[in-house]
Formats: sequence, structure tokens, C-alpha cells
Amino acid sequence: MRFIDTHAHLYLPEFDADRADVVALALTRGVDTILLPNIDSGSVLPMLAMCAEFPDHCKPMMGLHPTSVTADADKELQLVKDELARGIYVAVGEIGIDLYWSVEFQEEQVRVFREQLRLAKSYGLPVAIHTREAFPLILDVVEQEKTTELTGVFHCFSGSERDARRIMDLGFMMGIGGVITYKKSNLPEIVAGIPTEYLVLETDAPFLPPVPFRGKRNQSDYLLYIAHKLAEVKHLRLDEVAAQTTDNALRLFSKTEQH
Ligand SMILES: [Zn+2]
Repeated sequence: MRFIDTHAHLYLPEFDADRADVVALALTRGVDTILLPNIDSGSVLPMLAMCAEFPDHCKPMMGLHPTSVTADADKELQLVKDELARGIYVAVGEIGIDLYWSVEFQEEQVRVFREQLRLAKSYGLPVAIHTREAFPLILDVVEQEKTTELTGVFHCFSGSERDARRIMDLGFMMGIGGVITYKKSNLPEIVAGIPTEYLVLETDAPFLPPVPFRGKRNQSDYLLYIAHKLAEVKHLRLDEVAAQTTDNALRLFSKTEQH
């Protein structure tokens, strides 16, 4: 069985002491490809260093995270543009709108998000979207920018049935993470109604660990707990979940296996 962790921040300091062990452990579980989304100018070097250390297993994305959008967003955006021009990235991410922590830069977040969607279109890359407290605003923006070449994933999906419907109508996918294992989550019922071809797996490590690791650091081998839960919710065997979600991930992030 082969799995792809489509969203993990294994380059963060939380993994400085045991990064190679975390990758090795993921490999023993069949998680042989890990996609690393960027956050801002501070994360580019550690992310690329990790990809250089594990070139067969770690692939980078490039983007400016919405919580890093502040008054100097244009300088950050310029770095994203310069990096994308190198042609080494599998996606534009993570990008989006996050109104949970602050609405101070809401307009700026929308502008920067829209500009990065356009960059994705011009490079023919998929996008990895982060959103918090911003449905349906973010869907409005994606719908406005939608063209046949614009595709991507709503990472850590936890929206409503209606949000899921609009995402599928856009031809986008949903990233399923640890939240699906949480007891109080209604995500299992919503995911039960989403065709499996719209789903990819992710950990978002070191954040959002699945049950039974809540409160601890998340890591890529825990993807199996998410996959097991998804198998239960969809009444599929684990190997079917592995095959389908890996297939979806490779279709969406098609540069992952090009050399
Ligand atoms: Zn993330």
C-alpha cells in the first residue's frame, strides 16, 4: 500500500531533533511521498533544505500563507514570484483566507490570494488552499478566478455539505486530515456523501494530530490513522483508500513524479 501525505510542515523546528526518523517511520508505513507547503519568507530555506535531504520523498510548494499577510505583503509576494520562476515547485501553496485570528488584513488577504491564484494559472500549477472562518468568501474568489486550468485542494477540509458541493463543482479536491477522527466532528457524515475521487489525505503535521495523539506533535506516519477512519466512513478497505487517494494526489499534483 502506498500513501501520499499531501500537506505536512516537517521542516518546522518541531522536527529538528528527529526529522530523518520521522521520514523513515513514514516510509515504513507506506507514506513514501510528502508534500511540503510553504508559509512565508522565513520557511523557504528550511523547506528547500529538507527537500534536498530527501529528494525522492519530499516535494515543495511555494506560496504565502494568509496569516503571514501583513502590511509588507508585496515584498513577500515578490519572493513567491521569484521562487515560482525557478520551476521546482509542485503547487502554489499554501494560500488562502484566514479570518479566525484577525480580520485586520482581510482585504489584503483577498488581494494576495487572488494574485497567487493567477500565478498558479500562469504556471499551470495546482493550488493548496487554507481557509478558516472564510467560507463562502473564499469560494466566491475561486469561482471568479476559475478557468479550466485552475485546480487544487482545500486543505484540512472541515466545511459544510454545501461548501463541499461548491468545491466539487469547481473540480477541486478536499484534503482530509486528523479532524475526521475527532469525536465531536460532523466531518464523517459530510465526507460519507463526497465521492472518493474528490479526496486526498494529509496530516498537516505538526498540527492537528488524529486520535489517539491529540495534544501531541503530529507526524506523517499518523496518516494511517486518518486513512483507517476514512475507510470506515466510506465502507472501503484500507488498500482501496490507499489506491484511490494516492491516485487522486498524483493526478492533482502531477509534477510530483516528474524529474
Ligand atoms: Zn499547512
